[in-house]
Amino acid sequence: MTDTLLPTPTVTALPAERRIVTEIPGPRSRELQERRRAVVPVGVSSATPVFIARGHGAIIEDVDGNRFIDLGAGIGVTTIGHTDDAVVAAARDQLGDVLHTLFTITPYEGYVRVAELLAEHTPGEHAKKTVLVNSGAEAVENAVKIARKHTGRSGVAVLEHAYHGRTNLTMAMNFKAAPYGAGFGPFAGSVHRAPGSYPFRDGGLSGAEAAARTIAYLEKSVGAADLACLVAEPIQGEGGFIVPADGYLPALQEWCTANGIVFVADEILSGMARTGAWFASEHFGLVPDLILTAKGIAAGLPLAGVTGRAEIMDAAQPGGLGGTFGGNPVAVAAAVAVFDRLDAGGLLAEGARIERTLRPLLTGLQAAHPIIGEVRGIGAMLAMELTEPGTLTPRPDAVTAITAAAAQEGVIVLSAGTYGNVLRFLPSLAITDDQLHDAVGVIDAALRAL
Ligand SMILES: *Cc1c(COP(=O)(O)O)cnc(C)c1O
Repeated sequence: MTDTLLPTPTVTALPAERRIVTEIPGPRSRELQERRRAVVPVGVSSATPVFIARGHGAIIEDVDGNRFIDLGAGIGVTTIGHTDDAVVAAARDQLGDVLHTLFTITPYEGYVRVAELLAEHTPGEHAKKTVLVNSGAEAVENAVKIARKHTGRSGVAVLEHAYHGRTNLTMAMNFKAAPYGAGFGPFAGSVHRAPGSYPFRDGGLSGAEAAARTIAYLEKSVGAADLACLVAEPIQGEGGFIVPADGYLPALQEWCTANGIVFVADEILSGMARTGAWFASEHFGLVPDLILTAKGIAAGLPLAGVTGRAEIMDAAQPGGLGGTFGGNPVAVAAAVAVFDRLDAGGLLAEGARIERTLRPLLTGLQAAHPIIGEVRGIGAMLAMELTEPGTLTPRPDAVTAITAAAAQEGVIVLSAGTYGNVLRFLPSLAITDDQLHDAVGVIDAALRAL
């Protein structure tokens, strides 16, 4: 690492409170919105109408000086917090050394170090290898490639309510057509979607019953012998932070193992300490054959990985995996710092702390507001599903109203769910208990105003 090419990093510390000083959006954001409308297609939409200038910890500040408590963390990317000092320092150090060589031409240590760290921290004691890529969808694509090469089979099994990305193959793997796939076909073939486990909506099926249904469906509609892999999010993210019933995932894994099907855990959202464990798989006793990381791994720099059993990963021929930017030197430097902050820095424990604070606040809201049908999730990945009181009828209108009202008051909270009726809480691990209390107070007021 270089010493003096750049000054010592100074991260802009931001005051820890939300603060609204203009109408939302303010004048500068409105100006930028105009420029954006002229040159950015409508397909790239934004949930909140403010433009952000800086962020630190769990706070982001817009171009008009309004400060927001960020309960979204860029959809679980800035898990260790915005502009974490150690991560910024590591990335800055790397900037002065080398920005790119292409690992497949002339390799560098950071890539290998991230592969070692992933081997160490993902579930299972077996030998593991990792390929690094740029995005979550690219990780999913590579996992499918590798599983197909390893098994010599083509079928890909996915679950209802799944989300896996926006490339052609991953669009075929998503459950929800609008907005992710509608009109963008034809899609990749050999993708088979089976019912999963959604305790709030599947009439109280046990994990074993739901797994039997998934397996029976796949055996009838495809046949186990034609399946290369089953790709599952241990906790479904975009689908609405759906935690499957106890025993569901282990039963699927057992069936996969018995039938030579590669079990792929898509932990792009749920991994990297989001749930108070390194990977959500640990909560279910899963040891996936392949495990996918992206979002939280490099604190905002683009990086993703497929980590898995060495003998499966080595099925792909030399030159069969890779890409120009995969495992970029600055991104891997940031990732090494993220691992260090979670490990030595003790941030891994913060997911459980956030759940201890946030869950009772949300169940308190549920007691006061019958529109909240369920509070669920694990660690810093919690959600509330809003329904017509006493029914399963989704209330996406209420979620839209609440996210908009919260933004007006300086709280960024995201929606999710197949039916658009889930409020999801995925703050960074840097969020304080005070900030959580304050943000939930804002959401309480928005619920009252419905
Ligand atoms: C975000 C996400 C993806 C896609 O990642 P991108 O980096 O947006 O391509 C895939 N799977 C899950 C579970 C995700 O949450």
